[in-house]
Amino acid sequence: MTSSSRPLLNRRLAEFGTTIFAEMSALAVRTGAINLGQGFPDTDGPEEVREAAVRALRDGRGNQYPPGPGVPELRTAIAAHQQRLYGLAHDPDTEVLVTAGATEAIAAALLALLEPGDEVIAFEPYYDSYAACIAMAGGTRVPVTLRPQDGAFRLDLGELRAAVTDRTRLLLINTPHNPTGTVLTREELTAIAELAVERDLLVVTDEVYEHLVFDDAEHVPLATFPGMRERTVTIGSAGKTFSFTGWKVGWVTAAPELVTAVRSAKQFLTYVASGPFQYAVAEALALPDSYFAAFRADMLAKRDLLAAGLADAGFEVFRPAGTYFITTDIRPLGESDGFAFCRALPERAGVVAIPNAVFYDHREAGAPFVRFAFCKRTGVLEEAVSRLKSLA
Ligand code: PMP
Ligand code: GLN
Repeated sequence: MTSSSRPLLNRRLAEFGTTIFAEMSALAVRTGAINLGQGFPDTDGPEEVREAAVRALRDGRGNQYPPGPGVPELRTAIAAHQQRLYGLAHDPDTEVLVTAGATEAIAAALLALLEPGDEVIAFEPYYDSYAACIAMAGGTRVPVTLRPQDGAFRLDLGELRAAVTDRTRLLLINTPHNPTGTVLTREELTAIAELAVERDLLVVTDEVYEHLVFDDAEHVPLATFPGMRERTVTIGSAGKTFSFTGWKVGWVTAAPELVTAVRSAKQFLTYVASGPFQYAVAEALALPDSYFAAFRADMLAKRDLLAAGLADAGFEVFRPAGTYFITTDIRPLGESDGFAFCRALPERAGVVAIPNAVFYDHREAGAPFVRFAFCKRTGVLEEAVSRLKSLA
């Protein structure tokens, strides 16, 4: 400690304590409860991808600093993935940047593109690092609240339009959306794109759950809409798609000037990361469509298992169209404070969940909502469901 009375943590970060994910995972370890809080799979991704990492490590590929923008094999694979799935053509040399997970991509994009005082519009509830990174960049966050409507959290396009001011620099979009599971429709994306063009806004779009869409929902990258290719920074991550969240391989695809700008910030954050894993992810991205289909089918079955169990236990369930999270309303259980509920849940039922209120500026709007992750083994989900029945 210094002797000055000035707080050590600066004002920009003072409102952000320990992330809820760390807090709740620690609670799970301490109590032995089933951790349906932090979103990470409890089984590793494909064996051949793991083996590819081992091979890279043994062959000495990536054990020293990889190139700043990412290894060419991975940049080429990312470009091929965007082309194969979405028909988006990107030059691997000038329009692709590998990052230390999507987390660094978000941080670098905001640090690069914002001037102090710029307003950033983000959907509330928002992924926790958005608020912190906007703050670190000196920006001002302007939340537009997604509200429950017919069993899902929906965007009010009028509210979004009304939130744009002369100070708005950037829209920070997330689809499929964590924590609500909402997947923006073509109509919504069209309206967002029109607004961005009309008001000349930059767009950063976090699409890390692009492969996790269910039923008749469809993931359409915002960059594919008219006028968006030149103003959009698209963010992806191997953590979610290949179930290796610890490898921290993420990426940005965008027009050359945007990639250059994001790289300017990124080079002073980690500079580079995840050397051998970059080679493995290059192989993973080239897996056949059958891998992605099987991954989605597996997660869909898990969604249905947990959704049914939560409904049986008395929660109101917002069935997600994407991601691996289910948001619930705890009011049918006679509860209204998600924080208190989640802190007590390990004792009451041996399960850990996340209070969505932490993802809101308007905390009261998020108070009764609680998020459960279903990226866990079937037996673990069955056990969690059986424990949660005691709440009913
Ligand atoms: N964006 C969203 C919406 C997320 O849920 C996460 C976390 N899983 C991230 C970004 C961070 O991804 P990564 O682990 O690749 O840094
Ligand atoms: N994205 C994960 C989640 O929403 C957590 C990642 C993290 O712990 N930062 O649960």
